[in-house]
Amino acid sequence: MLLSELGEFGFIDTIRGLAEDDPRVVVGIGDDAAVLDLGGPELIVVTTDAQFEGRHFDLTWLTCHEIGQRAGAAAISDIAAMGAKPAAVFCSAALPPDWVAERAQDLLAGLNAAIMAVGGVLAGGDTVGNHQAALDVVVVGTVPHGEALLRSGAQPGQALAVTGKLGATGAAVALLQVLGPDCWADERLAPVRKRFATPAPRVAAGRALAQSGRVSAAMDISDGLAQDAGHVARRSGVHIVMEAARVPIADGCAEAAEELGQSALEWALTGGEDFELLIALDADQVEAVSELPPVAEIGLTVVGRIEQGSGVTVVDPDGDEMKLARGGWSHF
Ligand code: ADP
Ligand code: MG
Repeated sequence: MLLSELGEFGFIDTIRGLAEDDPRVVVGIGDDAAVLDLGGPELIVVTTDAQFEGRHFDLTWLTCHEIGQRAGAAAISDIAAMGAKPAAVFCSAALPPDWVAERAQDLLAGLNAAIMAVGGVLAGGDTVGNHQAALDVVVVGTVPHGEALLRSGAQPGQALAVTGKLGATGAAVALLQVLGPDCWADERLAPVRKRFATPAPRVAAGRALAQSGRVSAAMDISDGLAQDAGHVARRSGVHIVMEAARVPIADGCAEAAEELGQSALEWALTGGEDFELLIALDADQVEAVSELPPVAEIGLTVVGRIEQGSGVTVVDPDGDEMKLARGGWSHF
């Protein structure tokens, strides 16, 4: 069978079948990050995330500093999704030997800026020469015992909510593909570029949510809201109903959609890499959770509900099921 037939998530399931149960691994393959109990006062949380030139980034789209920053944010976001605090970061960099050195240094300086912004430290890595650039970023963090937020905790009857606003990355990629980097001359699109170039992983919000004890499941939105809701549904054994009209759309997306004749809602539902948090909680906890300071700063919006069953249904304002043009990000 070809990998394209098996699919990214089918392949990951086969890897999960290889991994042995081990008491040190509290959460293994299948969540945003692994949770390890190595005997210390807190649990250790580890994730790795690779970004490849031509696949995840294009050197004409952003500065090298911004590309490095995005790679850092993408990896850190998985630690935030667990309610954990990032500590040490390791970066394996593949770099073309014919690059001027400053360019590679900018890439790593951008990564370091993303790490410092969340109180972490770059502690090591590896360097190899390659015809295309790539960064693989490992983040090690900590979370107190009993506080890790998992994809598997959503329960029927609960509300589904997202932090912040969605769609900016989908909008930015569409703008760059259709119009090229000149699109940023239009000042109305500045908020889209800002969110795309320098995303802010929700570490403070994730910690506050975990510490509050009021949230029963979380993940970060990296493959698109609809697909990521599917991961929560699958890991929790529930059905998710998502109300499209409630999905908060990021600033500048409406203008970008008008410019391109595309749908901002579609970007928010399927675009991916927005790095907001998707959470499940009891409906009567929504107000208290919205008022946690790091959450209040970015906003929290209820976008759906959890029911018994399986899968995700996206409904329009009339309650009719919506068919999405594409599912979301898959590597194969
Ligand atoms: P995310 O989008 O949050 O980074 P992924 O969909 O990339 O999550 O990964 C889902 C789960 O599968 C994670 O637990 C991850 O560690 C695991 N995983 C993905 N690829 C591999 C691999 N090649 N080997 C082992 N585990 C993997
Ligand atoms: Mg994730």
